[in-house]
Amino acid sequence: MTSTSFSDDSSHRVVIVGGGAGGLELAAKLGRKFGTSHITLIDKSTEHIWKPSLHEVAAGTLDIHREGLSYFMLARDRRFSFVLGEIEGVDRPNRKVRLKPVLSPQGEEMVPSREIAYDTLVLAVGSRSNFFGTPGAAEHAIALDSTAQAERFRMQLMRELVLLNQRKNHEPDAILNIAIVGGGATGVELAAELLEARRGMSFYGLENFNPATDIRITLLEGSNRLLSALQPRLSQTARNLLEERGVFVATSVRVTRVTDKGLYDSNEVFYPANLCVWAAGIEAPAFLAEQGLAVNRLNQLQVDDRLRTVDADIYAMGDCAQAPWDDDNAFLPARAQVAHQQASYLVPIMQARIQGGPVPDKPFVFKDYGSLVSVGHSRGVGSLMGVLAGRSWFVEGLLARMMYMSLHIMHHMAVLGPIRTASMALGRLLLKRSTHRVKLH
Ligand SMILES: Cc1cc2nc3c(=O)[nH]c(=O)nc-3n(C[C@H](O)[C@H](O)[C@H](O)COP(=O)(O)OP(=O)(O)OC[C@H]3O[C@@H](n4cnc5c(N)ncnc54)[C@H](O)[C@@H]3O)c2cc1C
Repeated sequence: MTSTSFSDDSSHRVVIVGGGAGGLELAAKLGRKFGTSHITLIDKSTEHIWKPSLHEVAAGTLDIHREGLSYFMLARDRRFSFVLGEIEGVDRPNRKVRLKPVLSPQGEEMVPSREIAYDTLVLAVGSRSNFFGTPGAAEHAIALDSTAQAERFRMQLMRELVLLNQRKNHEPDAILNIAIVGGGATGVELAAELLEARRGMSFYGLENFNPATDIRITLLEGSNRLLSALQPRLSQTARNLLEERGVFVATSVRVTRVTDKGLYDSNEVFYPANLCVWAAGIEAPAFLAEQGLAVNRLNQLQVDDRLRTVDADIYAMGDCAQAPWDDDNAFLPARAQVAHQQASYLVPIMQARIQGGPVPDKPFVFKDYGSLVSVGHSRGVGSLMGVLAGRSWFVEGLLARMMYMSLHIMHHMAVLGPIRTASMALGRLLLKRSTHRVKLH
């Protein structure tokens, strides 16, 4: 079904940079209405992945080669133009974005640096892990910001498992220590996913060790409870679930340095780690702070309640934006739910800008439907906001896990449509039944 509401005479170009949870949904919705001449999406990757799945890629319970969606395929399907490239700056007076050259894995230049002209620019470049200048963290800890990093963790995990299997021949007490810094949703979900993965590891012929006792997972959190952005009851439930299954959880721990052997906290307590994951906070890409636009100390672009930056032709959304939340000086959290709602909010605004009509003047209002955290393949914990009663409801177990998955399904519906989403879901279900749960190869 295509809309005929656009005029091909208009030359207004909307350029969206960043095809993640927010930017891709916006491009897909606008592309169907206005077509390739009006809508361009730029991303530095050729494949889109739903970022909240990265901890599953890292643990080997999700195969990125099956999960990733080609931007070129999506662009053809949803009728937007796709440009592969990494933005390095914006020439605001001439309304152009500057892209770095595209290099091959061997470092050869495949596409030279370019400039892409825009009339309206939407920046949706997301965020990355913030090491807060902790010595050794960038060298020795892995962040889960991209598929490449999640794959790097998976490959190192595989290597450590093989080494552990060999060490067990002459060192019966050897164990594999995995440390996760940051007990927010990402850290908790990764710990739970590693527990799931642990169950399938001996399947690969690594039979010298017992995954349940010889792989130790440590979760370190700086504040006094896990999931500190959520209600205390959720924190306690998540902690109980992880501890019951053998995860060592320590709160009020400030990591001060990371080495190739492990981590030290502010009291010089040492936590051994063969593998370390950093999931302790975010920052937006540094180039945003160099464009003469207002940013906060995390490089996030400061936007108003209409998602406008200080430049009238530049909008920002998702993790790379700091947007106000209600009237009490709070800011919207960096969550997929926010990016998803902001994409829907920007559709009529971009439509009006393309068609030259009056731009709707309603502010963006975030509807918090609650927070859900996956703590295993049949379990989740979370709270749902009672829309009618104005209260929040605690949910746990399979119901919470299914609701957690619904955000991913809604994202696929927005970018693929219902028929492709249903066929992909069925295909994945059948593949899951026919292959082993954990991907070590
Ligand atoms: C492991 C993990 C688990 C998470 N779990 C949850 C969850 O359960 N629920 C939840 O609500 N949120 C979760 N989040 C957070 C959620 O993923 C983000 O809030 C959401 O993806 C933000 O969407 P976005 O569109 O702003 O950015 P992203 O989805 O990060 O997309 C940014 C896009 O910009 C591209 N890009 C970046 N820099 C450039 C550049 N210079 N040039 C061109 N392209 C660029 C990237 O390739 C990417 O495609 C999780 C995050 C992680 C890492």
